[in-house]
Formats: sequence, structure tokens, C-alpha cells
Amino acid sequence: MTAAKTAPLRRYPVLIGGEWRDLADRPQIASWNPATGEPLYSVPDCSAADVDEAVAAAHSAFLGEDWQSAAPVARGAIVRAMADVVLENAELLAETEARDSGKVIAETRRFTAVCADYLRAFGEMADKITGDTFTPPQKGVTAFTRRVPVGVVAAIVPWNNPLWLLALKLGPAIAAGNAIVIKPSEIAAAPVIEFLRKVTEKVALPKGLINLVTGHGAPCGEALSSHPLVAKIAFTGGPETARHIVRNSAANLADVSLELGGKSPALVFDDANLDNAVASIVSGVFLGSAGQSCVASSRALVQRGIYPEFVRRITAAAAQLRVGDPMDAGAQLGPLATAAQLNRIETAVAQAVQRGGRLLLGGKRPEIAGGGWYYQPTILEIGSHDDALVQTEMFGPVLAILPFGDEAEAVALANASRFGLAAGIFTTNVGRVHRLTTRLRAGIQYVNCYRMGAPMAPIGGFGDSGKGREAGIDAVRDYTKTVTVWIDTNV
Ligand code: NAD
Repeated sequence: MTAAKTAPLRRYPVLIGGEWRDLADRPQIASWNPATGEPLYSVPDCSAADVDEAVAAAHSAFLGEDWQSAAPVARGAIVRAMADVVLENAELLAETEARDSGKVIAETRRFTAVCADYLRAFGEMADKITGDTFTPPQKGVTAFTRRVPVGVVAAIVPWNNPLWLLALKLGPAIAAGNAIVIKPSEIAAAPVIEFLRKVTEKVALPKGLINLVTGHGAPCGEALSSHPLVAKIAFTGGPETARHIVRNSAANLADVSLELGGKSPALVFDDANLDNAVASIVSGVFLGSAGQSCVASSRALVQRGIYPEFVRRITAAAAQLRVGDPMDAGAQLGPLATAAQLNRIETAVAQAVQRGGRLLLGGKRPEIAGGGWYYQPTILEIGSHDDALVQTEMFGPVLAILPFGDEAEAVALANASRFGLAAGIFTTNVGRVHRLTTRLRAGIQYVNCYRMGAPMAPIGGFGDSGKGREAGIDAVRDYTKTVTVWIDTNV
């Protein structure tokens, strides 16, 4: 047995009412290093009573005079200061995330910088939340709207990309004047906790404005999403969990935004720049997070004229990828985040092959020092678009390829999915670009590129990919409610 297995696990505290608390007497949930399969640390499985205390603390901070009277520009300064905290601790945060989630360090470094960019942008938006004025028909009467914060926000985030997905919620929530209770995933909570520790050391915050609880979906997540004082739930995760959240929100009638999964199509037409299409799709489905990305380009639909050449090129490109230890700066994809995820993908690929799918690349666990939950970049040619491998989010390094004949068939196949998060369009025909971007049911569409993003650009999907949008000024407005004020000037 190794020292790591025998030494007591580092136990992370939670943040409630401005205090870091070591909840040693709660059941502890171990988090595992996907590169070795060894435990890294533990977090408490918070009870409904812990959640209640955190929400009550947030509610009282929200109603506190300090926060109610804080100017928008002062709220923005807090969010910008959090961006500085990310940059000042960039290497710690990037390493923590790579070790915890299995995403490669090159990717977590990139996303740490992205996270700071988004927080800074949200900070800048704080004083740009405006209302409207009206001239109503009543004589001498004027009316205007004002946008006020919703109150307590519950931010529930998944294990893939935890810091950035938190920034997408924390930034607008605080910029718009709310208080927040954060629940990271029990699978990779460390980046969120390390970040919040640095925030509380560096940034002066009203007591209880930002709270952190940890735990499983039940009881912790359930208690949070159904809490009567929660006014908005900002959730990123899977569609089945989202359905629980929506049911829970019947208890508090909170606003709910859902950023869920995808099975995003990449449409490659005969006239496409093939090298660009191949590089973009490889990047979208394999690089950085081994396909554990909501926008993964995991469904390649390729026009028949170029199909054999596309298959040859993408198989050759993916075969060159370096699978390795997430802490290795040269690794292009790391392990899957959990052993369960690895088993699920292995089974799904084996079953697809039994149904007649043709394995073009991968389909095995590579030999990598340290053990770990690695899976090779895998490409399958699938005969039917209805096949489970084409319709199910794999959340792993698995690409399904299918041919299509004409544009109409490409659109029909692309839209034949419960999901609708992202789509890639690879063509040099500008008219086709305009036709497709109006017909594809996908909230994020990349033309001759993939995996683009910027703080002003909304993110979100259709159907099982969720509802509501994150990022951009409209998303900040979603953390407010409109109040209409009538003034009778005759009095
Ligand atoms: P998940 O749904 O299992 O968990 C997400 C969070 O919800 C975790 O914090 C979890 O503890 C919590 N949770 C679980 N059950 C709950 C319940 N009953 N009530 C309240 N909270 C509960 O998702 P995951 O496996 O952590 O993440 C992967 C999923 O997230 C994938 O489907 C992926 O596509 C999606 N995702 C979407 C986006 C996006 O922006 N659209 C981004 C990243 C990930």
C-alpha cells in the first residue's frame, strides 16, 4: 500500500456565513486522482441543516445594509478583484484542476486565464445593468423599470471545468447584487475551494455574501435547489440531474438556468477546407479534456464525396495525439475523471461494435505509467444515426462518423437529437452558412472553427442541452428582476 493510501486524507472545509468550517463529524467524500486512481482529499457531505445555514447566511448578507447600498461599480470591483485572485493564483488553480479532474495542464492553464477574463468582464458589466423609461397614456404620469437583484442564487457546478463554470455564475450573480451559495461537484471540488479560500483572504466581502457547501446530489444538492430562500438556481450538469432540479424548484419557484450536455454535430461539406475541419473536430472532441466537454464535437456528419478522405485524415490525426499524465505539459489528453465513466464508455463502444459499428481507431485503455482511467482517442463509423452511440452523450474521447448526401439531409441528421448545444459547419459556401445557421437547432454554432468563446458571447442550448443562456450582458440581466415604478407628477 502506498503512503498516499495510508496517510490521512486532507479534509477541505466549507464556507458558511463568512467562516471556514471543518465539518469533521460529517460523512466525508473522497476525491480521486484520475491519473493514478488514488484518493487526493475529502470534502464533507453537507446535511440539509448545513445547507439551510448557508442559505440563511446568504439571505441575511443579501438584505444587509452594506450590500443593499453598495453601488453597482463597487459590486463590479469585487468581481474584478476575484479576477485578480485567479491570475495571482493561476498556477495553483491550474494544477489543482488538472490533478483533480484529469484535464491536461495546458488546458487548465488556458482556462484559468479565460476564467479571469470572464470575471473581469462581468465586473465591468455591473454598472451597465439598465432599465427602460416609458411615457404612459395617463396624463402627467411617468413610468420606468429598474432591475433589482433576485436575492439568493444557488450555483451548482459539475466536475469538468469547475472554475470557469463557477465564474459564469459567480460573476453575474455578484455583479448584479445577489448573494450566493455554491455547490461544486463532489468529484472535483478542490479548484473551487482553493479559489474561494484565496478570495476570502484577499477580497473584502460582506459576511455571508459568498458561501460554499459540498456534498452529493442528495441531500446537499436537493436541499439547496429546493430551499425556500433560494430565488435562482444556476445549474450546469447532466440532463437527468437537471430534471431533479426543475422538480425541486417547484418548492421555491426559483428562476432556473440549465446548461446541460450535448452530442454536437460537426457538418463537413465537400467544399470544406479539409485540414481545417479535421483539426477543428479533433480539437473539439479530443483535446484538453478527453471529450469531457459539453460542446464536444462528438458527431461528425460528412458529405459522401469527401467521406473516405476525411476518414483517412481524421484517423491519422487522432492517432498522433499524446495521451498522458495531466501534469505533463506535453500531454494533449488525459484520463477520464472517474473509473465509472471509463467503464461506461468502454461498454458503450463495445456494444456499438456488436451492433455493427466499425472501429476505426482506439477502443482500448492505453498503457500509461501510474495506472489511471485513460482511454484512447476512439473513432467509430456508425451505420445508423439512431444508434445509441450517436444519440447518447459519451463525455469521453469518442467520435462517431456518418456520411450524408445533400444539405437537406445534413440539416435533418444534425437536428435529429435530443440535444442542441453546439454545431460545427465546415464549408466555403457563404450562402450555405446563412441557410444552416438559421436551421440548425444549436445554441452555439461554429463556422470553420470550433471551441471559440468570449465573455460577451452567450452560451446555451435547446432541448436536453438546457434553457437560459450564460455569458454576455443578457445573462447578467438574468440575475435580476424587473420592477416597474409609476410616478404621478400631478401630486
Ligand atoms: P451531474 O449532473 O452529475 O452533476 C452536476 C452537479 O449537480 C454536481 O454538483 C452534483 O453534485 C449536483 N447534483 C447531482 N444530483 C443533484 C440533485 N438531485 N440535486 C441537486 N444537485 C445535484 O453532472 P456532471 O457529471 O458533474 O457533469 C457532466 C455533465 O455536465 C455533462 O452532461 C456535461 O455535458 C454537462 N456540462 C454542461 C456544460 C454547459 O455549459 N452546457 C458545461 C460543462 C458540463
